[in-house]
Amino acid sequence: MTSIIQELGELCGNELYCKREDLLPYSFGGNKARKAAAFFEQIDAGGFDYVLSYGSAGSNHARVVANLCAGRGLDCEIVTPLEASAPSFNLLLTERFGAKRTVVPVSEVHDTIEARLETLRQSGRRPYFIPGGGHGNLGTGAYAECWREIAAEAERLERPFDLVFLASGTGATQAGLVCGALLDGSDTKIVGISIARKCPVGRQVVVDAVRDYLALFDADFTEERIQRTVCFIDRYMGSGYGPGSAETLETVRDTLRRYGLPLDCTYTGKAFRGMKEYLREERISGKRILFLHTGGTPLFFDDLARWNTE
Ligand SMILES: *Cc1c(COP(=O)(O)O)cnc(C)c1O
Repeated sequence: MTSIIQELGELCGNELYCKREDLLPYSFGGNKARKAAAFFEQIDAGGFDYVLSYGSAGSNHARVVANLCAGRGLDCEIVTPLEASAPSFNLLLTERFGAKRTVVPVSEVHDTIEARLETLRQSGRRPYFIPGGGHGNLGTGAYAECWREIAAEAERLERPFDLVFLASGTGATQAGLVCGALLDGSDTKIVGISIARKCPVGRQVVVDAVRDYLALFDADFTEERIQRTVCFIDRYMGSGYGPGSAETLETVRDTLRRYGLPLDCTYTGKAFRGMKEYLREERISGKRILFLHTGGTPLFFDDLARWNTE
């Protein structure tokens, strides 16, 4: 699965490019499509007959997993925390793909998943569990691969990207890009704009994911080097996970008008706004910047009704 890199034009005195992961050719795209593809390689090879995963009702991950299951005729079940079960187009799609939904209070999610897997095994099924958001080395590896695409485009353009910005949630996407860049010996700075987690916890989750993935290779990076490479910014997430503030909505509206680029308020709108603020605050200009558009097309339509048109 590959996506295009598009030149968008000027942003705060820099050259802006966008890698359109939102246009990955499966189920409205997004980083969850790229990550899930890696998990389904294992599911297809391992003879599993049931897929269990976890996600909020607005989850892009749940939508993609449910679609991949529907296409294979595989049973699919998504465990959703009661606290994050508001209706959305992703939820509607997940239901239309025939996934079973199990809604429990967030404190019971872990035990519910364990119990479901046990019950399924006892009834003779072969369930496969995909961590929420496609976290883990398979998801990280998918984005280490994505880094190869970015490096190839930089080579074609005969100039590396100075900075890459993206929305960082569970951190697997950022960790994958960081691993790709480290293994490549690249100087490109990867800036994760947090959409929910605060430092230092959010940052440490990315660092741990980087270390877990690099352990698969003969690569000798010190803890200090990894810590220094992971740039995780938590100051642009407003009130945390969920639909963003009025400023985020404004960013979404303006970015569609100016560049024809659809963002959403939960992830990419926060990241795009964070990128602009960061460029201004750090007085960065004359650089070549890449925005990794991580997707969320159905979320764009959830937010559309909230626009004001002035
Ligand atoms: C899940 C998601 C992210 C965050 O990806 P992580 O790998 O969990 O950090 C960013 N953007 C969108 C649109 C997402 O759906």
